[in-house]
Amino acid sequence: MKQFNVPSGYRSSLISAIKQHRKDADKLKKDFTPTFLDLGSIQIYLARHFGFCYGVENAIEIAFKTIDENPGKRIFLLSEMIHNPQVNQDLLTRGVTFLQDTNGKTLIPLDSLTKDDIIIIPAFGTTLDMEALLTEKGISTEKYNTTCPFVEKVWNRSEQIAQKGYSIVVHGKPKHEETRATFSHASYHTPTVVVNDMEETKELAKYITGEKPANEFYTDFKGQYSSGFDVIKDLAQIGVVNQTTQLASDTQAISEYLKETIKTHYQLTDETIATRFADTRDTLCYATSDNQTAVKGMLETEADLSIVIGGYNSSNSSHLVELCEQKLPTYFIDGPDRLINKETIEHRNWSTKELQTITTYLPNKTPLKLLITSGASCPDAVVEAVIKKIAGFYNIEDQVDFKNVVLNA
Ligand code: SF4
Repeated sequence: MKQFNVPSGYRSSLISAIKQHRKDADKLKKDFTPTFLDLGSIQIYLARHFGFCYGVENAIEIAFKTIDENPGKRIFLLSEMIHNPQVNQDLLTRGVTFLQDTNGKTLIPLDSLTKDDIIIIPAFGTTLDMEALLTEKGISTEKYNTTCPFVEKVWNRSEQIAQKGYSIVVHGKPKHEETRATFSHASYHTPTVVVNDMEETKELAKYITGEKPANEFYTDFKGQYSSGFDVIKDLAQIGVVNQTTQLASDTQAISEYLKETIKTHYQLTDETIATRFADTRDTLCYATSDNQTAVKGMLETEADLSIVIGGYNSSNSSHLVELCEQKLPTYFIDGPDRLINKETIEHRNWSTKELQTITTYLPNKTPLKLLITSGASCPDAVVEAVIKKIAGFYNIEDQVDFKNVVLNA
């Protein structure tokens, strides 16, 4: 995979050495067992895959290069670059201004933009309306575009499905930048509706079968369907695409549910289902798949707790938390500062989105076994800092070294 030039402060020599070792030993990425870091009184199991993905590194490289090459110019980011507080703060410190918040609320009047401004499009991509607005102002939407190729792949998949006459159901968080961008691109080609979860999917299915009156759709799915959506006609032939960072099992269940609904309602068979349900595999990206599979591999190790590190509005990180929570006590933090001391941690509840202060999160036992992973937008340096902070509580910070990685454990 291409090597990117990202600020060295985001790297960790320890984590880089671990990743390189695992890569060399498993070139085909078939081994999803965690890496064992034996610090003595603490035993850490790091997921096989975690941290910066292709799209994030690409976006960071372009953003910092743009800043370096354009001194004196006004540089804006359409919204957060990626969902990581440290990276976004670093960009703000370097003089970049955010035009919108993560929900699309305008922070800087778009009228104030001029053709001399530089607008960086984030890794999530953007809507066609925003592209048109920038083009109208004479601002390039190509030169500083960091849209991840794996997001563009979903847009291409949507277009292919649309060309065959299917409407699109997007499984994604309706307010997430990527889902809004995908919705915009898909709905340019075909009627499109967004479902957030299985609950909404079941409601949507009731409009396919006619169980609910059509007019209620427009209230139930307010803000989630494309202009002119005809609930009778446009749900008769559908295909599903996903936000790239969804939980694989959710995405599969949603797709299967809709497929079975159509199959039963129209009395189709395995041979004829494709006439009304597009034969798609999920459109999760490789990083989402690798990181979720690696967490499943990590969870096969018995441990006392797990820690997931990532931005609190990071979709892919939240899903890693969701997976870990099914097996053991799990704490979701966005950096080492959340580890207040050996007794207290500030953790984000991924489902209620509340910050909670938890006491006695580190059980009093030796050795203490921890599972650790991080989201696709989390710098490895943050992971190392978290490990060091925990080790520091036990006065074994000096043990955090590659020599204590148990190779071939
Ligand atoms: S998580 Fe996937 S889609 Fe998102 S930026 Fe990374 S590689 Fe691209």
